[in-house]
Amino acid sequence: MIIAVDGPAAAGKGTIARALARHFGYHFLDTGTLYRRVGLAVLKSAGDATEIARSLNDSPYDDAELRTEEVGAMASVVASIPAVRQALLAYQREFAGRAPGAVLDGRDIGTVVCPAAQVKIYVTASPEVRAKRRWEELKSLGMDAGFSTTLDEIRIRDERDSNRAVAPLLPAPDATIIDTSDMTIEAAVAAAVRVVELAA
Ligand code: C5P
Repeated sequence: MIIAVDGPAAAGKGTIARALARHFGYHFLDTGTLYRRVGLAVLKSAGDATEIARSLNDSPYDDAELRTEEVGAMASVVASIPAVRQALLAYQREFAGRAPGAVLDGRDIGTVVCPAAQVKIYVTASPEVRAKRRWEELKSLGMDAGFSTTLDEIRIRDERDSNRAVAPLLPAPDATIIDTSDMTIEAAVAAAVRVVELAA
């Protein structure tokens, strides 16, 4: 069983995908972290993004330094390089095949990484709601950039992710769309669980 959860930044897809993995006992992969790790390494070393992506190991490395908007923006820049995406593809597909099932969250899981996924969910919300959530999250990490700066950064990242030539952010034609703008986390997770149950 493969569950693809895609959508723009701070729509709630990570929370939903993690909750689905816990609920159904499946593996979970946040694919944005892979792009963030490449982006962070480029910022630190100014090395070649494709080489860095090719040498990325599969350790589940995560750290607060990956969560800054600066790293998110660089992740989005390196994610527009086709060779970087190609370098990260095999690992994502291998992960998706793990038994008894896997939930992957990202931008192109339902369209490119796992087009045959049994369940595809596209999680979205208005830019203002997403910026507010992202701003709260950054504040809790001690990084308060201000609401309007956060909104601008979200808009720039959406624009870049949606307009790139390779694997742009867009719902798969067969995806179920969940708009979380006016939903609590609990309601959004419950809606996603229902989508999976209906497909099973
Ligand atoms: O989801 P997150 O904000 O961590 O992703 C960081 C960036 O990585 C995104 O803005 C996007 O450009 C890129 N990304 C991608 N494809 C994925 C996951 C993330 O292009 N499957």
